[in-house]
Amino acid sequence: MDKVFLVTVVTIFPDMFPGPLAYGLSGKAIGSKWSLQTINIRDFANDKHKTVDDTPFGGGPGMIMRPDVVHDAMLAALAKYDNKPKIIFMSPRGKTLTHHVVQELSSNKHGLIILCGRYEGIDERVIEFWKENHNMIEISIGDYILFGGEIPAMVVIDTCIRLLDGVMKNPNSTFDESFSLDCLEYPQYTKPRIWCQRRVPDVLLTGNHKQIAEWKRSESLRITSERRPDLLCRNRRL
Ligand code: SAH
Repeated sequence: MDKVFLVTVVTIFPDMFPGPLAYGLSGKAIGSKWSLQTINIRDFANDKHKTVDDTPFGGGPGMIMRPDVVHDAMLAALAKYDNKPKIIFMSPRGKTLTHHVVQELSSNKHGLIILCGRYEGIDERVIEFWKENHNMIEISIGDYILFGGEIPAMVVIDTCIRLLDGVMKNPNSTFDESFSLDCLEYPQYTKPRIWCQRRVPDVLLTGNHKQIAEWKRSESLRITSERRPDLLCRNRRL
């Protein structure tokens, strides 16, 4: 049997996991298609108060996570793998998460290590070290600031798990979803055929698969060019 996709989250709040990931199809697939481990950064603090942060050199607001403590926690995460996992630091300064980034992340058979920051962030030296020595990449989930990297990590995990083989009941559902062909999805309908005097488009009731496919494609292009024309000419590389 193939090894499951191992995700290790490095955080000061391990109890937040698996959280929402335990529900629905991602939850069903835990154990068979992917598995989740956490490393509690606080376990690597080296004083009796279990301190993981300190004040910033040069002044400024808030606290910064210490490089020595974070580094030891990351080494413990890495020790769980016999191959090279993709290593990610959740960071508002990172590359924005897109479907194509997710495709690259989920195709790494050795799984992921995800480092979550808290407070004002993490000492730059440990970020540099893991980028230089372990190809760590910084990923942002969008241009806004959250309290910590845990919710962003859940977003990365959720999106990656959806793309793993065998997680979705119908693998085609990940092919024609929004973004997978650089297009937004066409409109979808279910029963009843008439609701509030609104009819389901006739073409979908014809049973003519070719016409239906053409309609879906043209609706998809129409909606994308109206709402997100930038997607139609986007660069696909990570
Ligand atoms: N002072 C930092 C923000 C710290 S927020 C700055 O101005 O850039 C604390 C932590 O939350 C970050 O270290 C990061 O791990 C996480 N975080 C916050 N917003 C994020 C985002 N948009 N994407 C990914 N991670 C984020």
